[in-house]
Amino acid sequence: MEKNRYSIALGMGFDESIEEQIGLAAKAGYQAIATDWKEGFDVASWGRIARDNGLEYNYLHAPFDAMHTVWESGEAGDSYTDMLIRGLDACVEAGTENYVCHVIIGMDRHSPTPIAFPRIQRLLDEAAARKVLVAFENTEGLEYLDMVMKNFSQHPSCRFCWDTGHELCYNHAQDVMAMFGDKLSITHLDDNFGMTNPNVMTWHDDSHVMPGDGIADWEGIVRRLHRHNFNGIYNLELNRFSRPERDTHAKYASMSCLQFMQAALESIRRFVEQ
Ligand SMILES: [Zn+2]
Repeated sequence: MEKNRYSIALGMGFDESIEEQIGLAAKAGYQAIATDWKEGFDVASWGRIARDNGLEYNYLHAPFDAMHTVWESGEAGDSYTDMLIRGLDACVEAGTENYVCHVIIGMDRHSPTPIAFPRIQRLLDEAAARKVLVAFENTEGLEYLDMVMKNFSQHPSCRFCWDTGHELCYNHAQDVMAMFGDKLSITHLDDNFGMTNPNVMTWHDDSHVMPGDGIADWEGIVRRLHRHNFNGIYNLELNRFSRPERDTHAKYASMSCLQFMQAALESIRRFVEQ
């Protein structure tokens, strides 16, 4: 049987540069890394450093600060789509074939419209031309993801990114793997404590603590991955610090970046390799 591969999304609130963190990830025992992308990031050099350290570049994460404009008519949505497409070139430069995109931003947005379709089509066509897969992630506003997947799941570049924490604190623990698991290519494995107030969706509940440090059902998560014959990379997407108005990360305060990465790897291995 092939060995399980583990990855970590770099940054996490540590002061160490991405270059330094790549070396630490290799030292901690990971097989891959992932990073954010935005214009100006030297992902080509990060890709080189990752390869020098024997690591795969799991994916680039696209910006999502104005993703709602893609669903609205007007120039803003067109230029945002252009920017997202430049991120596909960055994937090629970095040497990764995976690009993670949120489909929406905004807790109060619940009205997807077909205005987004030509833009998403263009993004996916450009991705296919570069042999990049676009994994759309479950976030707040699941109705937007549902609409994208219903319309584009047959596109050769359309995939799904499962964020286990978002499922718990944004998607009311609906089984998003049952909905989109057939298209799964990327995992964001992270835990939290559910919704503080079940009537109020807030990113303050999106803790991104290590697997097992929150209330997610990790045996169930691993079972659902296996049910979909997952043989991709187990990727952790974590945060070192508590969200505003929350005190959830105290146990990480004294950990160095390397210690945090080691503890994180241990936390997911415990469930995957039991
Ligand atoms: Zn995520």
